[in-house]
Amino acid sequence: MGKLSIVATPIGNLGDLTFRALWNMKEATVIYAEDTRVISKLLSHYGLRKTVLRLDAATETKKVPEITARLEAGEHVVYVSDAGTPGVSDPGARLVAAVREQLPEATIEAIPGPSALTAALSIAGLSSDQFLFLGFLPHKKGRQTALKDIAHCTFPVVLYESPHRILKLLTELGKFAPKSRVTIARELTKIHEEVLVGDPLELAEKLEKKKAVRGEFVVIIESQK
Ligand code: SAM
Repeated sequence: MGKLSIVATPIGNLGDLTFRALWNMKEATVIYAEDTRVISKLLSHYGLRKTVLRLDAATETKKVPEITARLEAGEHVVYVSDAGTPGVSDPGARLVAAVREQLPEATIEAIPGPSALTAALSIAGLSSDQFLFLGFLPHKKGRQTALKDIAHCTFPVVLYESPHRILKLLTELGKFAPKSRVTIARELTKIHEEVLVGDPLELAEKLEKKKAVRGEFVVIIESQK
């Protein structure tokens, strides 16, 4: 019986790949990736040439029979998402659940490493003994309820947000939780890494002053202290 390794990859800085991640990708029979181009760049940075096949959110369930067949044949299958830890606001969870159910004797192992969630918390300077991670807020249905819940949450709430929606989010937080302390961790591990702290509207103003709101964002909201 083969092995499925769920491998975390860098969130920007290619130097953040762990030795174990590298070793697993080197040893793997095949690597499945959310985007083959992203992982090919990482592999070539480390001088590895491997077969990379696509497995994204749209194909995750469809590819299960192919992967279980490989595991039954004794192969070592690696799965990587575009960046960070698979399964954290990324594909991977449905694959793991299906393999665990259909091939209970297969080994599924975590190769831990970077995640924007833990990287942001590590430099936010707040007590992270307890926090609520909500990933990306829903765009429409359930958004207002989520914003109200955030405003009443007694511990920090961590969100992921894209550059074209960050100002909208801050404006909404300005309405639902105007006095909250918001920390934005932007472009983590990259050249323009930056942490901004303030109330939602202060931060929206700061970002608006920048020529373009670029990058990837982790937003941490402390509503009730
Ligand atoms: N699985 C990934 C992880 O473990 O962090 C998250 C994938 S999710 C599709 C992508 C989101 O993570 C981005 O929209 C952004 O909110 C956050 N993110 C990823 N890389 C980041 C970085 N370098 N700096 C800040 N946020 C980042």
